[in-house]
Amino acid sequence: LFLTFEGIDGSGKSTQARRLADHLQAQGRDVVLTREPGGSPGAEEIRRLVLEGDPDRWSAETEILLFTAARRDHLERTILPALEAGKVVICDRFADSTRMYQGLSRGDLRALVDQLHGLMIGREPDLTILVDMDPETGLSRAKGRQGTEERFEDFGPELQRKMRAGFLALADEFTDRFHVIDGNRDMDTVARDIAGVVEQALV
Ligand code: C5P
Repeated sequence: LFLTFEGIDGSGKSTQARRLADHLQAQGRDVVLTREPGGSPGAEEIRRLVLEGDPDRWSAETEILLFTAARRDHLERTILPALEAGKVVICDRFADSTRMYQGLSRGDLRALVDQLHGLMIGREPDLTILVDMDPETGLSRAKGRQGTEERFEDFGPELQRKMRAGFLALADEFTDRFHVIDGNRDMDTVARDIAGVVEQALV
């Protein structure tokens, strides 16, 4: 099973991805927890190229190519081998993040993102958990843990709102695989809901 977590910055999706991995492992399942951008040595190098340093280093189009290259490497080296070995793969962000961030934040480039995805990636997750979160809350959480590579978190409230709305629209577009979870509740309740959805998909 190929499972992805999506959501705006500060939505709590990384914490929830880790908790789900722990939960499934405790049930004796073989789980690979990975993330994007990154998730393989080559893709982690590309992550540094994109997320660190001058935000204007790459054009929007070049950035889409870099994210797609990173995803291809991640898919080849990490995700597909694990799925073939029968493992549950949990990925913190995947192509839906590129559809939103690179597709919407610097003009409307969604068509380009989708074209490259069709050419080089193809694969969609079996299940996507969208951790939906109030944009202001998300922003203040994300700012609280700002590190060296967090240039994207300078997005500000307007873009954060746009991304949130975009993710919800994406959930309506891919109804077969998206599950929207209200992330504004306490962590344990959110984790329990997610575990319920995933356990249903695993039977
Ligand atoms: O999920 P995580 O917080 O690790 O993502 C790191 C940063 O990269 C975030 O600020 C996110 O907004 C940004 N990002 C992006 N485009 C992607 C994936 C992540 O701009 N496709």
